[in-house]
Amino acid sequence: MVNKTRLRSHEKASARRAGLRAQWRMVEFADYREPSGRALSRIAIVYGPLHSRRRGFSLGINLFPGPSICSFNCIYCFRGGAQRHLASVERDEAGLDPDKVIRAISYALRRLGSDAEKLRAIDFSGNGEPTLHPRFAEIVRAVREYIDSKGMGISLGLFTNSSRLCGPAVREALPYLDHVEAKPDTVVTWKFRVINQPAPGVELHDMLECLAMLRGLFHGTVALQVILLETDGFANYWPWDAEQLASLAEKISPDRVNLYTVYAPPRQKAVRKAPKPQMERYAAILRGHGL
Ligand code: SF4
Repeated sequence: MVNKTRLRSHEKASARRAGLRAQWRMVEFADYREPSGRALSRIAIVYGPLHSRRRGFSLGINLFPGPSICSFNCIYCFRGGAQRHLASVERDEAGLDPDKVIRAISYALRRLGSDAEKLRAIDFSGNGEPTLHPRFAEIVRAVREYIDSKGMGISLGLFTNSSRLCGPAVREALPYLDHVEAKPDTVVTWKFRVINQPAPGVELHDMLECLAMLRGLFHGTVALQVILLETDGFANYWPWDAEQLASLAEKISPDRVNLYTVYAPPRQKAVRKAPKPQMERYAAILRGHGL
């Protein structure tokens, strides 16, 4: 009886701590929204700070603080998938412009106080695909100018699903970026359609051609991001998948390939983590190709 009571109070305490942690993170996240107080959505323009294994102590920039807009609708998406599933966006309903993004960054830096000196990276990521934003290139340039004007030695990064890599906006933005982290999760067309569920007009072969050209266009760090998973009926972690991806990666010559599995509740419940031995075998095949 005593033990049971102890267990219950321990469980309660840990649930309370988890609740507090979640609340703290939400406050940090929401506090960086546009300071005018005009609520664009529940999601902030600048979020964090994050302790990223890849990027260190960093902030994220979300160009779609309203509904999530993405050219994919990945089955594993832990943001719930695309609320607007589009291959291109003509008009940003939230009216986000370079000034608003700079104001949100400046507010976040003030909130960080002396911790701002520890920042290693600011990354375009967030609620959808950042390169779809109609003012993407302008905003990237403005953020670069802002962080340079502050003398901050910060790496400016882009996390992209690669669907717009060949578009003029991305080409215009590349000289202002230090780091590009780009998908694919697979190089097999039918698996791409199942896993990433691209919007009409987004084709895997175009995406792979653009990825292969990236190294020639961009002089910063290129990382490929591959999410390995299984779901009812198939997986994308077999040796054959790894060999295909390695052939593509050899053309891109990335600085690194980051392998992940599903690490947050996926959009589709049937999606499961790739087992560790399969991930290790996949990684060993990439290493065998010098990646
Ligand atoms: S590309 Fe990213 S944001 Fe878009 S649906 Fe896939 S996981 Fe979600």
